[in-house]
Amino acid sequence: FRRDESGWLGQDLRVFPTVGSTNHVLRERLKEENVPPGATIIALEQTQGRGRLGRSWWSPPGRGLYVSTLLYPPRLQHAGILSLLAAVALTDAVRRITNLTAGIKWPNDGIIQGKKYAGILVEAGTAPISWAIVGMGINVTGQVPGDIAHAITLEQAGAKKLTLELLWQALAHDLEARYESWLVEGNAGIIEAWRAYSVTLGQIVLAQGPFGQFTGRAEDVDEEGRLLIRHGSSLIPVSSGEVSVRAP
Ligand code: ATP
Repeated sequence: FRRDESGWLGQDLRVFPTVGSTNHVLRERLKEENVPPGATIIALEQTQGRGRLGRSWWSPPGRGLYVSTLLYPPRLQHAGILSLLAAVALTDAVRRITNLTAGIKWPNDGIIQGKKYAGILVEAGTAPISWAIVGMGINVTGQVPGDIAHAITLEQAGAKKLTLELLWQALAHDLEARYESWLVEGNAGIIEAWRAYSVTLGQIVLAQGPFGQFTGRAEDVDEEGRLLIRHGSSLIPVSSGEVSVRAP
C-alpha cells in the first residue's frame, strides 16, 4: 500500500490485518506527539466498523478498503464540509480509475446504480489542536450479503481489475488535491463539485433527526454543506452530524 508519488497524504502509513475500527486506531494515535498531517491507517478487516450516527459498517477481510486519514484543518467550525470534501474526492477517484458513474447521496454515501458502495465517517476535535479524521469503508470485491439492503461492491457494479492498492493510491491523490484546493479557495469549489455528483438534489426525501421527521424536496446544499429541504414555505437546513435522509 505504498503511496506512489511525492504527495504528503498517506506517506505516514500503518497497515493492519485486523482492527476494531480504523478511525479508532488513528484516534488513539493522536495521543502520541507530532503525528504528521496525512497520517493514515489501513486495515484489511474491521471487526467494529462504524458509520454515521453509531451505525455499523460491514468490513470483511480483504474485500474492501478500510482507511482513515488525519488532517489538521484550520477552520474546524466548518467540519461538515470535510464530509462532503471526502465524498467528492472518493467520487473523483472512482470515476477516474473505473468506467463507473459514481454519485453521492447526501452527505457522503458513495452510490453507484442507486446502491451504496462506500460510507464515510468524519470525526473532529480541538485537542491538542484542531484535527479531523476522515474514515472511509469502500466495498471493492465480492458480493455484499443480501441482508444489507441497497448495497453493492465496485466489482459487482462492473469495475475491472481493481485492486485495493490501486484504489488507495487514486484516493490518496484525489483527497490530497481536493483538501489543498479547499485550503486555498474555501468551500465553493467543493460545493460545486458535490452538486455535480449529487443523486439527492431534486429528490423528495424523508429527513430524520433529533426534531423527529419530515418530508420535503432536497433543493440545495448551503456553503457549509447543510442540506436545504423545502417543507411548505420554509427551507430547512439539516446537518450531517445528526440527520439522515432517505426516500419516503
Ligand atoms: P443511510 O444509508 O441511511 O444514509 P447513513 O449514511 O447514516 O445511512 P452510514 O453511516 O454511511 O449510514 O452507514 C451505515 C449503514 O450502511 C448501515 O446502517 C447499513 O444499513 C449500511 N451498511 C453497512 N455496511 C455496509 C456496507 N459494507 N456497504 C453498504 N452498506 C452498508
